[in-house]
Amino acid sequence: MRSMKKAATAWVLRAIAVSLFCGGAALAEDQPAAELWDLAKAKQGIHRFSTLFTAHQVRDNLSSEGGIDAAIDWCRKTAVTKVYVEAFRDGYQAKREALQHAKERFQAAGFEVSGCVTTTRIGKRSTGWNGISCYTDQATQERLQAIFEYAAGLFDETMIDDFWFTDCQCPQCDAARKAKTVTVGERTYPVAGDAWEDYHCELMVRLSQQRLLAAARRVNPKARLIIKYPQWYDQFQERGYEVLRETADFDRTWVGTETRDYQDRHWGGTPQYEGYFIMRWLGGIGGPKCGGGWYDPYGTTERTYLEQARQTVLGGARESMLFCYGSLLEHTGPKNVQTLRQNIPELLAVAEQVGRRRIVGVAAYKPANSHPEKEGRVFDFVGMIGLPLVPCHEFPTDAPAAFFSVHAMKDPDLPAKLARFIASGKPVLLTDGLAARLAGKVSLAAANVQTIPIRSEPKRLLDLTQEELDSLRLPLLRPSGCPFRAPSRVALYLFADGSWVIENFNDKPVVVELAGKQQRVAGRGWTMQWKSGGREQAPAIQ
Ligand SMILES: [Zn+2]
Repeated sequence: MRSMKKAATAWVLRAIAVSLFCGGAALAEDQPAAELWDLAKAKQGIHRFSTLFTAHQVRDNLSSEGGIDAAIDWCRKTAVTKVYVEAFRDGYQAKREALQHAKERFQAAGFEVSGCVTTTRIGKRSTGWNGISCYTDQATQERLQAIFEYAAGLFDETMIDDFWFTDCQCPQCDAARKAKTVTVGERTYPVAGDAWEDYHCELMVRLSQQRLLAAARRVNPKARLIIKYPQWYDQFQERGYEVLRETADFDRTWVGTETRDYQDRHWGGTPQYEGYFIMRWLGGIGGPKCGGGWYDPYGTTERTYLEQARQTVLGGARESMLFCYGSLLEHTGPKNVQTLRQNIPELLAVAEQVGRRRIVGVAAYKPANSHPEKEGRVFDFVGMIGLPLVPCHEFPTDAPAAFFSVHAMKDPDLPAKLARFIASGKPVLLTDGLAARLAGKVSLAAANVQTIPIRSEPKRLLDLTQEELDSLRLPLLRPSGCPFRAPSRVALYLFADGSWVIENFNDKPVVVELAGKQQRVAGRGWTMQWKSGGREQAPAIQ
């Protein structure tokens, strides 16, 4: 519930035109820790920072009073006001006394406390990813259920880290796939088709309902489970992440915005804009159930770590989960955390502005369970070239402009819907891959249709020249009245009231032009302007 004090603060903010111009450089000094903690507590209803203690970190960091003291001190200095204390990971179950004691200590220190389970190294191994299980195996299902019953006995809310999937193709799974039947305990369920994704999705949906949600609620009627979706959205269905039914079944959803450094040899290849795209896309599916984003320090520099934070906030998240305490104490972690701490006041201020506004721009249609074919992550790259995307999972009939890729082929009515959209005269951008698939089905020979050359390699979009990009954007941004001239790797975010954000992912500063006005944006920095007003869009965090 929104308190009177918060409502008054919001009213004052609405009454004045707020204009922030922020460079990429971190603020000059660390925010005094106590002040930052007070700010975090005051703003946690709008946006909250949280962290997670893995089961092993519960054992190693939270099993002594000194360890808990150090963790509480770190959290306070990092504006973290909520912690997830994990009961199970990688075959290890944390001790009940340690979990219970850590929970009580954190609660006494003013933190919200929830649990977590990571479903790795449980029972029979999958033939695929290391650490993943074969859930066709009934003994594995039993063990899984026991883990969630254990967690629900300790916590009212439990997060599930993004290993809640299966890619097993063992003979037992294969026989069930061919028989088009999922068996969970005593019950069997029909499966729509005989593809692996049909089997894996049905299996994970039914397991979630029976072995997780129902089992947890029998132990604790107040038990709430959060499904955290990974950042690899184009492969969800292959491994059984079924975003429509699972989002409907689970109490809350969380979103992986851990893009890491595009150039990193081990972790790279995902451009920064992906964090924003997936946060908005899953936010559209989850609505008020969608709680927050989640990012980590692996394969990051301070700059990319901060960009993950910014993308999560621009994506409309109401919480930023910093995975995880132990990893943030080593390698790249401490420097990332130092940079984050310096930027938290700004991130909270931006989150407050974003939360009041609706995004506008170019609709980007990715139906649930849609296949990327040779256009994997194309949305992320389209965002990196300065098109302000409005991600959606349903056909954007009423959008003023839209982008379509081969993902849209998942929609059986696409040809008719697209033909009507084109006939309306609104600007349309299509990938060359989709244009080829629609040959003979939809007439694309209209002045309002542009085709963009992906040539099966979305990252090529980053190589387009500013001249090419400026002319590509011009018709698409005409309905918003915001023509945008900028080189590649500069993203634009537009809001319904005319507010905007420009983020520069280039190392060097750029001078861009938005609606006829020049703006200088620092290297790896952002610039923004908030108009007065902005009505409430996001409900207060639950
Ligand atoms: Zn199997």
